[in-house]
Amino acid sequence: MRLQCQNCKADIQYENINIQENICYCISCEEAFQISKLLDAESIVHYDKPKDTDVIYIEDNHSMGFQIQPKGFKQAMFLFIFSLFWNGISWSMLGFSLKDERWDIVAFLSIFCLIGLFVGTLTLFHFVGKFTYMMNSATAFLKWSIGPLNYTKKIAVRDITNVHEAVIYEENDQPVYGLSIACGKNNSYKFGSNLDAEERNWLRGEILAFLNERCPDFRRLKN
Ligand SMILES: [Zn+2]
Repeated sequence: MRLQCQNCKADIQYENINIQENICYCISCEEAFQISKLLDAESIVHYDKPKDTDVIYIEDNHSMGFQIQPKGFKQAMFLFIFSLFWNGISWSMLGFSLKDERWDIVAFLSIFCLIGLFVGTLTLFHFVGKFTYMMNSATAFLKWSIGPLNYTKKIAVRDITNVHEAVIYEENDQPVYGLSIACGKNNSYKFGSNLDAEERNWLRGEILAFLNERCPDFRRLKN
């Protein structure tokens, strides 16, 4: 979550924001504010689209949406080409040694073939996991998909109370951040664990701007 101070326009740091208590604190002017009072259209910091992002973003007069590519798309391309070569060579050599009944070589090559299958599976996984967000003035659609399998969550825009940065999971005791669409205090929908900080700020700003400008139903966080 990113907020700007009402008085001095300084960014209020994450550690000085308490969403549960609806309070934040500006270290520059040493004053506390209710978060809800800062959450109007003017306080939203707009971020430009990061130059090297893989996120596909679209917007027109009635809707906005984006698609987050699977984690490490560029690495997946490399893995894909690598696994094609690896599998091609390993399996054809295995075929020849089976034909010649060279069982010692077959045993040796089968390890290479197993590694090939493992890398191939890994590649497939990297290629297929996607997240799609679509929103019009009344409804937001969140879709998580792995290949042909997908799960879609439909949220009424009037139920959305906030969009903020959130911890998705922990990796080696380090928090991995993503975005969270909050609907009241108890419901939230998280996504984007592979977004970097720049991408999170950008997408959060775009969602909030759309909610504020195009969604009369959007109910702001209030006491
Ligand atoms: Zn201030």
